[in-house]
Amino acid sequence: MKQLLTLFIFATLLSACSQTPKSAIPDLIFVNGNFFTADSLHPQATAVAILNDRILAVGTDADLKKLADKNTQIIDLQGNFAMPGFIEGHGHFNSLGSSLQNLNLMNIKSWAEITGLVAEKTKSAKPGDWIEGRGWHQEKWSESPGATVNGYPYNTALSAVSPNNPVVLFHVSGHGLIANAKAIELAGISSESSDPIGGRIVRDAGGKLTGVFEENAMDLILKPFSAWNNLRPEAERTATWEKAAQLAAAECLAKGITSFQDAGSNFWELTQYRRLAETNQLPVRIWAMAFQPTAHDIPKLKNYPQIGLGNQHFTCRAVKCYFDGALGSYGAWLLAPYDDKPGFAGQNTTPIDTIARLAKACHENGLQLCVHAIGDRANREILNVVEKEFAEGNKSPDANSKSSVKRDKSVDKRWRMEHAQHIDIQDIPRFGQLGVIASMQAIHCTSDAPFVVKRLGVERARTGAYAWRSLLDSGAHLANGTDTPVEDVNPLPCLYASITRKPTNPTPGGVQEEAFFPEQKMKREEALLSYTIWNAWAAFEENEKGSLAPGKLADIVVLSKDLLRCAPEEILQAKVLKTVVGGKVMYDAEKK
Ligand SMILES: [Zn+2]
Repeated sequence: MKQLLTLFIFATLLSACSQTPKSAIPDLIFVNGNFFTADSLHPQATAVAILNDRILAVGTDADLKKLADKNTQIIDLQGNFAMPGFIEGHGHFNSLGSSLQNLNLMNIKSWAEITGLVAEKTKSAKPGDWIEGRGWHQEKWSESPGATVNGYPYNTALSAVSPNNPVVLFHVSGHGLIANAKAIELAGISSESSDPIGGRIVRDAGGKLTGVFEENAMDLILKPFSAWNNLRPEAERTATWEKAAQLAAAECLAKGITSFQDAGSNFWELTQYRRLAETNQLPVRIWAMAFQPTAHDIPKLKNYPQIGLGNQHFTCRAVKCYFDGALGSYGAWLLAPYDDKPGFAGQNTTPIDTIARLAKACHENGLQLCVHAIGDRANREILNVVEKEFAEGNKSPDANSKSSVKRDKSVDKRWRMEHAQHIDIQDIPRFGQLGVIASMQAIHCTSDAPFVVKRLGVERARTGAYAWRSLLDSGAHLANGTDTPVEDVNPLPCLYASITRKPTNPTPGGVQEEAFFPEQKMKREEALLSYTIWNAWAAFEENEKGSLAPGKLADIVVLSKDLLRCAPEEILQAKVLKTVVGGKVMYDAEKK
């Protein structure tokens, strides 16, 4: 009944706004589906009717078929499971595309194999061309790379296979890289060079360079790399960038993703996304964060927010900044030293004053502040900055400066902690209290599990690592995603990690490895909400997408397994059958 009422109101609204009342006849109806709508008022349905790019009605086959006329297309979902299109909550869209263009080292199991791939690549490279790769992780190799420093290999083999081409291979975390001798020579680095602030040139006990550069030290290698890149004609560079965007979009659609929250693009990229969206060349909806603007660039934020452009295909209403590094590369900034690196507590990569300045700029321009914070120290410092900025910003203008700060509780800013991976138990309730979104990546939990206890010890890992349950129970809002290309953009292993906290690749013998502190896992429905309506909420888009309800964008994914009821392991076997964006089938497994 309520359903019919909602339909009625929506149809009336449509008729009121449109010249032709008969426009309330759907173009398309999906029938015979097993829909999970993520709409708490009507969680289940068998049919969804669509007009243009929006949902007209959600209900039963019989009721919705009554709306059709002879021009309405009817698609039979054959009983398959369908739900709102997945929203990737934190990823790097163009990097995903370039990871598909360049050497992808994510699933390579040894250093020898990596240098082999580079050797192969040099055969087709022109002298002087840079060779780029991404995705290696020393803890995931099955054989030793020989001599190591902090687990990292030396670049000797890399320099031997590519003497004339500079090589840069990014660590999967994006917080470190290994370069060969040619690249280091072009960067003008020697064993005498000193470490930059917030970064480290990794050397052995004798001071010899290993070729590994962590955090801000990566810039030393990236400088000659971008200089080479900048020498390429602009049209060529733009074409490469655009190609990467198209590859990323195709990859997302094949995996059921209809919206993508991009965790940091520069102003040039933001204008490119906008252009693609406004010329109908962006098949996936992008919600972007502007990459950490310099003091010089902060005035550009006045041109934002830009919301719902290109027919809801491009929004930028947030700013991304980095505050520390990653746990794997000892970059996460901790309150107490690493267990396996005594005396070292990680790195703060951006001065706190810079973050405070950006917070103010966000406040003034109505933008969401999204801060990369992984370690417990980083999380605490950022919560302090946010608390201070909210208090300052909400002082009433005529208030006596000595009077106590009045917090306006109705102010809904949805600032985000990106990763929020390791949190001191005392800080967990502050997320809910301050309304700071914990934008987490469930798959990082199970990927990192093999080294988390090594780095943090049992107690810190148990109480504050990927503490989804504690955060939810304390009233925090969660978002979920993969941080692609750090992880595969596929939401299914991430959903599996969310509800099991078990490794994604069960051993072939079927023996399940132990779950990582399973008391922190999400419930099944929470996991599905975290990838749909919760992510929409984290972007101020809950009225546009994230659930299937009349008036919302018709973004839908159809899958071969019932993600709400199947055995957890079956989630990993599910296939995406159809991905629908704005009422158009953009991916169809049958037509592959
Ligand atoms: Zn990221």
